[in-house]
Amino acid sequence: MIDFDAHLAPYAAHSSKSRGRRHPEGTAGARSEFQRDRDRIIHSTAFRRLEYKTQVFLNHEGDLFRTRLTHSIEVAQIARTLARSLRLNEDLVEATALAHDLGHTPFGHVGQDVLNDCMQDYGGFEHNLQSLRVVDQLEEHYGAFDGLNLTFETREGILKHCSLANARQLGDLGCRFLDRTQPSLEAQLTNIADEIAYNNHDIDDGLRSGLLTMKQMEEVDLFARLHRQVVAQYPGLPGRRELYETIRLMITAMTADLVQTSAALILEANPQSIDAVRAGPPLIRFSAQMRTETTALKRFLYANLYRHYKVNRMRVKASRIVRELFEAFMSDPVLLPFDYQVASDDPARQARKIADYIAGMTDRYAIREHKRIFSLDEL
Ligand code: MG
Repeated sequence: MIDFDAHLAPYAAHSSKSRGRRHPEGTAGARSEFQRDRDRIIHSTAFRRLEYKTQVFLNHEGDLFRTRLTHSIEVAQIARTLARSLRLNEDLVEATALAHDLGHTPFGHVGQDVLNDCMQDYGGFEHNLQSLRVVDQLEEHYGAFDGLNLTFETREGILKHCSLANARQLGDLGCRFLDRTQPSLEAQLTNIADEIAYNNHDIDDGLRSGLLTMKQMEEVDLFARLHRQVVAQYPGLPGRRELYETIRLMITAMTADLVQTSAALILEANPQSIDAVRAGPPLIRFSAQMRTETTALKRFLYANLYRHYKVNRMRVKASRIVRELFEAFMSDPVLLPFDYQVASDDPARQARKIADYIAGMTDRYAIREHKRIFSLDEL
């Protein structure tokens, strides 16, 4: 038997001590339990759909912008680096990072907001919970079970947030939201790796799109400081390289700060097992100084990029598409593909099926489906 856990700290998630899968299975031979999870995620249909789902810019606005897929890969890369530094489980953070957005709707956050609004009378819609629903129920790959039958630890990492009402329905996995305990350090870490990834790649995409300018970026202290450092080290560097060098230093500064701060917190708390981690305070954190800097950066991106009028236009158009699709399917379920029509008269069950159908759409599929439903020229 290969010992997959030999290099891990006692507080890490150990493959040999996993809390297991909902449907028990034999071991995965040459792979750890979490490697097997990662492989199932990569082979899933929902994973391939991420390629055509929006991060900030709509999928068809340009070939070089991040999509949910490239975003997820960047999160996995950052999470693995952080995990290795802290002797946490790299396979688990990779699996969690690659799966964290599987339940995302088309058109980024607006899709989730509109679906949540449409689903108010039927239990609401949360994209984190939808990611879990994808891996627990919606994927159809295996003979013995629905979904991907992932380990408890990967599922725990996927479910970052959850309303209390929904947590009560989730058994073991919902407990931590009710008793306010922590998830594994791997889950805490992947959550922050997500933030490091988007805060940095959104600067790149924002500048590439022309919605942000280098001059504007000087308002962000962290960026301005590291940019000056790049200019001093490489005077006269062509613009794009100057930007990449700055972003590179920003990612390094954030990851180094996170590792240093978290390592000190872990040393002090000295948890001897993953259960001790779950019972303790959050231990994966930025320093107070870096938290201030990343908050300022987020605020800047919110005001100048995510609420730029050109992004607003796309958001309003996208929200109209999602709402009109939902309303059309809800008032005439016979428009739905047969798989999504519910035989009973239960509107809540039908609504959930419609939400699953819409959430599973890529941007371009949703746009096409909208035309097929509303335009006489399309079938
Ligand atoms: Mg994300």
